[in-house]
Amino acid sequence: MGDLSDRLEAVRERLATAAERAGRDPASVRLIAVSKTVPADRVREAIRAGVDTLGENYVQEARAKMADLADLTVAWHFIGRLQTNKAKDVIEGFSLIHSVDRLKLARELDRRAGLHGRTLPILIQVNLSGEETKGGAAESEALDLIRTAAGLEHIEVRGLMTMPPFFDDPDRARPFFRSLARLAEAARQRLGLALPELSMGMSGDFEAAIEEGATLVRVGTAIFGRRS
Ligand SMILES: *Cc1c(COP(=O)(O)O)cnc(C)c1O
Repeated sequence: MGDLSDRLEAVRERLATAAERAGRDPASVRLIAVSKTVPADRVREAIRAGVDTLGENYVQEARAKMADLADLTVAWHFIGRLQTNKAKDVIEGFSLIHSVDRLKLARELDRRAGLHGRTLPILIQVNLSGEETKGGAAESEALDLIRTAAGLEHIEVRGLMTMPPFFDDPDRARPFFRSLARLAEAARQRLGLALPELSMGMSGDFEAAIEEGATLVRVGTAIFGRRS
């Protein structure tokens, strides 16, 4: 347990230091422990060490862990690419979907959430780098998607998510974080929509993301170690 709780503590310290440097309350940044490929017993250790929110990328893997860890209280966020035909599988169990990047998916989540009689909180994922390997709506289409998704009855658009390209130097990711914050501001000014959540920053760059306004950081490797 030692190594995991030590790493978690180190991440929490880095998070708090970055927030303070930016004049922000560390409590305004939520740490999401990204547990894709991490076995349920390791995830259990992390929860015992204080993790309260998990991020998962694959629906089936997440469902299996939810069943294994059903005796514990923890929030599950879906952060991976989501096929429209899998929308029905994330309506229950997840408290936030970070990766809604197209209208067809937003409509299907809305329809499915309606069938379950619930409102599903989501983020709109934006691809600010144009990398084809990454999910996300194009920046030029993001405001239209935000507006249309915000008009749907059974989903609630809580904010935006992005994944910059990988850089060795986290400062190079900073312009992408800044662009996401600017897009949320544009939605406020032009659409009158408040988008309080900004999901940005991973193990290598979450401090820069916090300095640029992140409210949700998605950290895997720095907590659980290298994925096999
Ligand atoms: C895997 C993953 C992360 C975590 O990445 P690390 O570099 O291990 O911290 C964050 N966000 C998404 C969308 C991911 O797929």
